[in-house]
Amino acid sequence: MKNTNIISSNFNNHYDYWVFDLDNTIYDFNLGLFRRISQRMTEYIKDFFQLNHSEALNLQKSMYRKYGLTLRGLMIEKEIDPEPFLEYVHDVSFDDLKTDHKLKKLLGEIKGNKLIYTNASYKHAEKILTSMGIFEEFEMIFDIKDSNYIAKPDQSSYLMMKEKFGFDNENIKRSIFFEDTAKNLKPASELGMSTVWIENDFNKEEANKLRKFINFTGSDIKSILTKMLRS
Ligand SMILES: [Mg+2]
Repeated sequence: MKNTNIISSNFNNHYDYWVFDLDNTIYDFNLGLFRRISQRMTEYIKDFFQLNHSEALNLQKSMYRKYGLTLRGLMIEKEIDPEPFLEYVHDVSFDDLKTDHKLKKLLGEIKGNKLIYTNASYKHAEKILTSMGIFEEFEMIFDIKDSNYIAKPDQSSYLMMKEKFGFDNENIKRSIFFEDTAKNLKPASELGMSTVWIENDFNKEEANKLRKFINFTGSDIKSILTKMLRS
């Protein structure tokens, strides 16, 4: 892990607000849960717009590229209703998501506020966190509805998050943000948050380009928290 601006070893002394992304950050990327959600988006688009599979996938990808969030693009360009879409895409099986005692214990060692900042829905976050046995660890969840369906890394999403979490220009400096999607760390860093990138091959190139906006990195949430809290 990089250690650029931390003098004392225990991060509890430096941060009062611990903000976590959800998908592929709180649980492991390798579970493939997010891939299944993405597949359900393709299915929904296919049925809704009567497209074949590759047309649906192309629309999904182009909306994602243009707006940072497939749903946002579909709302703007195709005027779809967000609620049935979110309901459908997040209806995935959570069978492989088990109670994570080790993560629960680590989260319990954090003295500050623990918050979730996700581009997904509250309901999805609640289901995941409950399956992992860590729902009650978090004080607040900021979801896609809270940001009027404007997703990270759009700066206006961060400003709404800042407001909901009660950050001002001073206390935000005592916050730390954990994310697997490297580009989502840049606006956070610009607002004064410390940033942690959860390493993954998918985001490697992007993370290299954004190095100056990333304070710390590590292979997964548990090993990162272990280093931050127990060394
Ligand atoms: Mg993520």
